[in-house]
Order: sequence, then C-alpha cells, then structure tokens
Amino acid sequence: MNIILLGPPGAGKGTQARKLVEDRDMIQLSTGDMLREARTSGTEMGQIVAEVMDSGKLVTDEIVIGLIREKLEGDKKGGFIFDGFPRTLAQADALEELLAEMDETLDAVIELRVQDEALVARIVGRSTCGNCGEVYHDLTKPIPADGKCTVCGGTEFKRRADDNEESLKTRLMEYYKQTSPLLGYYHVKGALRSVDGLADMRDVEAAIAEVLDA
Ligand code: ADP
Ligand code: ZN
Repeated sequence: MNIILLGPPGAGKGTQARKLVEDRDMIQLSTGDMLREARTSGTEMGQIVAEVMDSGKLVTDEIVIGLIREKLEGDKKGGFIFDGFPRTLAQADALEELLAEMDETLDAVIELRVQDEALVARIVGRSTCGNCGEVYHDLTKPIPADGKCTVCGGTEFKRRADDNEESLKTRLMEYYKQTSPLLGYYHVKGALRSVDGLADMRDVEAAIAEVLDA
C-alpha cells in the first residue's frame, strides 16, 4: 500500500505519518526531512537548499525527485507514505513514472484539510525532540517541566528556522500556487480522500485508518 499525505504546512502530515510507521510498518518518505538532512551536509547543494527552505520557497523539482528516487530503491516494508511530496504537478508526474517502473501503485491520496488561521497557530510555537522527532507545541503540548521528551527521555529540542510567521506566509502561498492543484489532479484520478485535519489527533488517525482499510 503506497499513499500520499497532502495538505498545507502544519496540517499534521508528519504526525500522522509517524503513526502509520508505528502501526503499519510503513516507510515515511518526507522530502522535508531529507532536505533538512541534506542542508547539514556542508556541501554547496546543502547551502542552497538551506537558503531556499528558510525563505519558505520550494526547492527545485530536480533535487527532490532525485532524493525520492534514491529512497524508493530500498526496502518497501508495509509500503511508502509520501509526506510533503509531490508538491508540484511535475513531481506528481515523476512519482507516477517512478512507481510504474517499480510495478507499484498509488493506493490513496489523503488530504488533511485545515484552515489557514489554524495553521499559523499550529506552526508558530512548534518544536520537536532532537532525538526521536516527537512533536511538541508551546500551547497545546508543551515540553514537560522536567525537560525530558515523554517518548524517549531526550533533552534536546529543535525549532525549525522556517517556523516563523514570515516564512510561513511564503510556504502557504507556495502551497496554494503550486501544490493545491494536485487536489484536482488526484480527484480526477479517483484517488483523493479528504479528512478533517482539525479534528482531534485520534479522530484524524481513525479517519485515515478507515481510508486505508476500505
Ligand atoms: P511543511 O511543514 O512546510 O509542510 P516540510 O518539512 O514538508 O514542511 O518542508 C519544508 C521545506 O522543504 C519546504 O518549505 C520546501 O522549502 C522544502 N520542500 C520539502 N518538500 C519539498 C518538495 N517536495 N518540493 C520542493 N520543496 C520541498
Ligand atoms: Zn524524544
């Protein structure tokens, strides 16, 4: 089973992907995570990627398609979850070709629907555990008073450089201009399933499970 999680920044794609990895032994392919890794590499490419990401703009199709292609060669386990990819129609076409080459299918595209006002609140204030990636939020799920991650006990927490109001505006604009046309594209293909991303986290999980088990 291979699926895409689609939705604006802050819709909860990463959180839901982590859950699916845990429950269904799927493989999360997050281009955002891959790019954040690439930027720490110290290469010239990493430098360019860092600047683009911090501004909130999209990295070139060529770079992200290359990253995805590499990962598809590995073990498939319970299937792939594409998280933050594709983000442009060119990426969607490339994914279709890559899957066809591997004799794999795309089983569902799950849209996490959330209004803009909620996204700003969710993103500004967000941090993650530097060790296990658990997501925290200053208002809704603060880092415990003892400074230890509830999942792994880690004591280092990270904030993303692009999780500020200015970059977020650009990220949202990029989403509406470049990524939201994919909703129409996958709708016509008959693959689109929409879920209320503002519901309680457990309810979102249940709604996704319903799609996957249908
Ligand atoms: P978000 O929470 O904004 O969805 P991600 O972690 O998925 O964040 O991505 C962070 C940044 O990485 C994006 O703003 C963009 O610069 C870059 N990026 C991630 N995935 C892609 C992609 N598929 N195509 C182009 N750029 C990407
Ligand atoms: Zn942790």
